[in-house]
Amino acid sequence: MEAKSYVCPTCGAAMEFDIEEQKMSCSHCGTKMTVEELDRQYHNLDGQYGDKNANNFSMNDGAATREDNYNGNFKVYRCASCGAEVITDDYTAATFCSFCGRPSLMEDRLTGALMPEYVIPFKIRKEEAVDIYKAWARKGALTPSLLRKNATIEKITGMYVPFWLYDYDATIDLDAQCTITRSHTSGEYRIVDTDHYNVKRVVEAEFNRVPADASEKMPDNIMDMLEPFGYGEMRQFEMPYLSGYYSERFNYDSVQMMPRIERRIARYIEEAGRDTIDKRYSTVNVMRKNIELNKMNASYALLPVWMLNYRYNNRDYMFALNGQTGKIVADRPVSKQKGAAWFATISTVLFTILMLIGRIFGA
Ligand SMILES: [Zn+2]
Ligand SMILES: [Zn+2]
Repeated sequence: MEAKSYVCPTCGAAMEFDIEEQKMSCSHCGTKMTVEELDRQYHNLDGQYGDKNANNFSMNDGAATREDNYNGNFKVYRCASCGAEVITDDYTAATFCSFCGRPSLMEDRLTGALMPEYVIPFKIRKEEAVDIYKAWARKGALTPSLLRKNATIEKITGMYVPFWLYDYDATIDLDAQCTITRSHTSGEYRIVDTDHYNVKRVVEAEFNRVPADASEKMPDNIMDMLEPFGYGEMRQFEMPYLSGYYSERFNYDSVQMMPRIERRIARYIEEAGRDTIDKRYSTVNVMRKNIELNKMNASYALLPVWMLNYRYNNRDYMFALNGQTGKIVADRPVSKQKGAAWFATISTVLFTILMLIGRIFGA
């Protein structure tokens, strides 16, 4: 199957999503147009001209030769520009031709039942992501120098990660035993009064667009910490947004992800329930609770993440950056050599101080 590739109507070079302008832009001649305009052009050409513009517009019109050579979990597409093989795993939705570098979209993984409903376009440009990464890597005396090498920095990648956004209606019904304690002194005695209260609460709340990443490769904890995303900038999904980035289709559907999201929403509604209990109580013991969760909707969205994977001391590390807000989530490896050097320095300093103290007091 031919990979989909958006080309410039003026010169035929690749069109990529330009973050600064939030438009599609030709890297060769500078032609710019909105995502919708480009998409419209493609649809029109498809219907009206068909093959006539096949050289300029490599539309995937279904007549293209299908070469669904499954090799285990890999699938072969054909680059619309140079014809080289673009080899993907089962979930790749957007990548690049490794031969000519042309952005290549796997249209069959972005349409029909696999079509995302929304996308939040990247707002942090690659240069900004690199600067944020460099500043992060400079920090910390024990950070291994590997992290500052250009070869490492070059691996930073823009990725649209598949998420499910859930809307839930949640209710908690709880009984708690609460106390208020006061004390006063009377003569030699200290008198403690404790009042007991039975507190009953029923709290209902609606939670909207609670996200859960649906990609197996992405560590859940890192993806959760990248929140919040600003949904005000969320757009209806259009394929051109992905041109120039990597993307994957979901590994888990919205039903498979429900246990994970429900644990989280149960926690939220419980907090909401407890928050309604007056802070004047000295103690609060929840004796009984009943939580009901009702899924209203789940929508499929692609959210932007800059990421950098590297290996250090036989362990894999990930640096992740929210592509919309610039929030960093990363764990920092500690260099063993640097750690040893630090220890030596600190020991020497301590030893010197002890010597000085010894000399002062010993004299
Ligand atoms: Zn052009
Ligand atoms: Zn190519």
